[in-house]
Amino acid sequence: MRNEACVYLVGAGPGDPDLLTLKAYRLLQEADVVVYDRLVSQDILDLIPAGTSRIFVGKAAGNHHLGQAEINELLGNLAQRSRKVVRLKGGDPLIFGRGSEEALHLTRLGVRFEIIPGITAASACTTYAGIPLTHRGLASSVRFVAGHCRSDQPLDLNWQSLADPDTTLVIYMGLANLEEIQYQLITAGLSASTPVALIENGSTQLQRRLLTRLDSLATTARSEQVVSPALVVIGRVVALAGELDWFAEMAADDYVDRSAQA
Ligand code: SAH
Repeated sequence: MRNEACVYLVGAGPGDPDLLTLKAYRLLQEADVVVYDRLVSQDILDLIPAGTSRIFVGKAAGNHHLGQAEINELLGNLAQRSRKVVRLKGGDPLIFGRGSEEALHLTRLGVRFEIIPGITAASACTTYAGIPLTHRGLASSVRFVAGHCRSDQPLDLNWQSLADPDTTLVIYMGLANLEEIQYQLITAGLSASTPVALIENGSTQLQRRLLTRLDSLATTARSEQVVSPALVVIGRVVALAGELDWFAEMAADDYVDRSAQA
C-alpha cells in the first residue's frame, strides 16, 4: 500500500497567532503530530488540540537541542508512522529557517511534503514597529541578512554592497555580532547617523522597540539588555517609526481598557 503520509513545513509567523495563515491553522487542527521549535509562541501552541502529540526540537544559538540531521531523521521516521506531520517553524520556513534542508531530506527519502509560507520576522516586526521596509524617497530596496555564522565563525558578508543608503537592511540573528556589524558598515561608508531599530519579541505583547543610530547600536543593545529573538533594522525608513507607531498605541489603549474594567 502506498504511504500517504505528508510532512507539512508550516510557517507560524512571528508570534501573534492572528498572523497565522488559515492553512497553517487548519493543518494544526488536523495534524497527528506537531514538531516545533523555540521561536513558535505559546499562544500558537495553545491552538493545537489537546490530544495531538507535540515534539519540541528547540534551537537556541549555540545550544542545539536536536541537531539538524537528527531533526531530518525524526521527520522521516514520523512520516512512517503518521499521516499528517506538521513541522511548525517561526516566521517563514524558507527564510533562515532551514525548511529547504528538511524538504531536500524528505524528497530524497521519497516522503511527500508541502510548504506553507509564513509571515517572516522582517515583515511583521517592522510593520508592528511602525517601520515601512520601503518608502518612496527613503528606500527602494530591502536586504535580509543573517548576522550570525555557523559555529561562531566571523561574519562573511559583503559589507561594501550592504552599505547602501537607499536599501533597508534587516538583520536576523545579529545580537552576538552588533559591534562588528556597526563597525563594518560605518567603515564601508554608511553614515554613522543612519537610523536603527532593535525590535525584541516583535508582534507579541512583549514587543519592545528601541530606536537609535548606527554608531550607538551595540551600546544601546547592551545598556537596554536586548534579548533574543530580536531583529535589527538599519536604514532611513526607521526615521518614520515615531509617527507610525500604531501597535504601541493600540497596546496602550488595551491597557487603558482593561484597567477601566477592573
Ligand atoms: N524563519 C524565521 C527566522 C528564523 S532565524 C522567519 O522567517 O522569521 C531567527 C531570527 O529571526 C531571530 O534571531 C531574530 O533575529 C528573528 N526573529 C524571529 N522572530 C522574531 C520576533 N518575533 N521578534 C524579533 N525577531 C524575530
